Amino acid sequence: MEVCSQLPVLPLDRPVPQHVLRRRGAISLGTSSALFGGPSPRQLCKRRGGVSYNSADQAVLYLHLLGDVKQRGPGPSEPVRGAPHSHVKVDYQRFHCHQGPVRPGARGLKSHHRRLSFQRGLKSRHLLQRPSGPQHLLDQVYNCQVQCMLDKVDSWDFDIFMFDRATNGNGLVTLTFHLFLQLGLTRLFRLDPIKLRSFLVMVQADYHQRNPYHNSLHATDVTQAMYCFLRQPKLATTLSSCDMLLALVAAVTHDLDHPGVNQGFLVRTGHHLAALYKNSSVLESHHWRCAVSLLRESGLLDHLPITDRLNLEERLGSLILATDISQQNRYLARFREHLDREDLSMADPSHRHLVLQITMKCADICNPCRVWRLCSQWSSRVTAEFFHQGDVEKKHGMAVSPLCDRLSDSTAHIQAGFIRHVVEPLFREWCRFSCTSLSHHMLAHLQTNLDRWTDPSQHPETPP
Ligand SMILES: [Zn+2]
Repeated sequence: MEVCSQLPVLPLDRPVPQHVLRRRGAISLGTSSALFGGPSPRQLCKRRGGVSYNSADQAVLYLHLLGDVKQRGPGPSEPVRGAPHSHVKVDYQRFHCHQGPVRPGARGLKSHHRRLSFQRGLKSRHLLQRPSGPQHLLDQVYNCQVQCMLDKVDSWDFDIFMFDRATNGNGLVTLTFHLFLQLGLTRLFRLDPIKLRSFLVMVQADYHQRNPYHNSLHATDVTQAMYCFLRQPKLATTLSSCDMLLALVAAVTHDLDHPGVNQGFLVRTGHHLAALYKNSSVLESHHWRCAVSLLRESGLLDHLPITDRLNLEERLGSLILATDISQQNRYLARFREHLDREDLSMADPSHRHLVLQITMKCADICNPCRVWRLCSQWSSRVTAEFFHQGDVEKKHGMAVSPLCDRLSDSTAHIQAGFIRHVVEPLFREWCRFSCTSLSHHMLAHLQTNLDRWTDPSQHPETPP
């Protein structure tokens, strides 16, 4: 049901307040101009059937009911947020706390845990609530601005930062839900839309928004990039629906519960995750186990045979583990050998899986291949996270990790090295494989951005 046919243009950086959003349930949306200091809504209000809206309202809400999304049969019990997962939990909040180190068990730490849990519960409760009786989903696409952006979700210049503002920080849920529909995965795999949304809400909540870089916005960005790659001819015409499903789930979950510090930090501080995963792909293994945990908790795939589910979980792990940068040369060497021998067959499931792993790697580190205005924002964020780790290391008398010292490193220096040694080798091979206008476009951006990072006149702080 489309409520408004002529929607006003919204200012792109104006979020819709939560108290306005709550009105959606009442399907009476014509009063929002008053909330922004506009004229009395009653003077401007028009009626369309049972729904009123305001034609001159710059903050009009867009109500878009999905088709047949009535829940089939009794659903699973509501996921309980804040309950501990079966896996061990990383919590580095005390390292992010600016009031200094907090002793485990101390009163301050306990209250911090409680506040976090409470905040997470508050954040996701309105989306997870399951009232008794028939249930329907209201699309999160509540204004034309979000809808207009989603119409261009396959654009490489998609502004994920603007999208996050337009969705009030719910970009991960909104974008991924849309992509599942767009690719027909919800229908093909008979996914319950309510379970799918619950799963995505939990995924979004399990990213640490305090992290400058490894938060849900990064996961959303990687998922959007993955969608762009999946639409490239070589993938779109050869990948199975199962491959597509896996690729999206891997993209959206690949950094789940990231603590905002790297593996070296976990190993040197003797963190229990480092011991659990034997100091190897520690973070990636944890992200994978978190993803499996949320998949099971949401019951999203419960209707599939157990062997299929276990197979999906294994392949999901294989894709997420491929994002371990320290293992890049291993994956790239295999990929390069196939390209050199010209024997990569997309009819071979193992070859397709290798291509998916490379695709996942590309989606994860594609920031430097974006247009400068996006690339530079991501670069600032990742540097902030590195420097924060360096600050924590100094504070605790530890040796500062490479690239983490704000006194001797710089964004430009870090980015130039990252592009030369990690990003460019990967995307050169990807371009050999894909050879589309997008892959050439990405390489062009990469070169432009590298030129800017290495131009001393633009970055005077860059070490010689
Ligand atoms: Zn990542």
